[in-house]
Amino acid sequence: MNKAIFLDRDGVINKELGDYVKKLSDFEVLAHVVEGLQLFKDNGFLLIVITNQGGISKLEYGRTEMHAMHSYLKNYLGNSGIELTHIYYCPHHPNQSKCLCRKPASLLVEKAIAKYGIDPTQSYFIGDKQRDIDCGLAVGVQGFLIAPNENWVPIAKQICS
Ligand SMILES: [Mg+2]
Ligand SMILES: [Zn+2]
Repeated sequence: MNKAIFLDRDGVINKELGDYVKKLSDFEVLAHVVEGLQLFKDNGFLLIVITNQGGISKLEYGRTEMHAMHSYLKNYLGNSGIELTHIYYCPHHPNQSKCLCRKPASLLVEKAIAKYGIDPTQSYFIGDKQRDIDCGLAVGVQGFLIAPNENWVPIAKQICS
């Protein structure tokens, strides 16, 4: 079985703006992210992003813009030798359509667990909204709730100690 760190995106990996992150120029990777992910990588965790991107359904931005941000992120982390295992996203918004993948629903975490053979009891979710934590708890993954843009390296050290 593998162990994983599940991470929310906005406010955990890149700067939460208080609005949708719509384009590449909005996408600012937080300064502590490389150090934190490196620690997890060195301790054998898979790194899996689970993000609600309901702005796609609301036509605030498109998948093309989102994929540009994710390509940038993968490249940015790749320069430090860090590889994200998978980025899962929910493009839906309840104003437009109901779905099973928007956090706090746990479908995307369940998909990751099945695809990568993850043991939930050895895995953790870091998020800046209660719905992130609830998403993990629904499948037995312990959560750490941070403030948006908070440095979570101390949590990474605690998990890896
Ligand atoms: Mg967030
Ligand atoms: Zn969805």
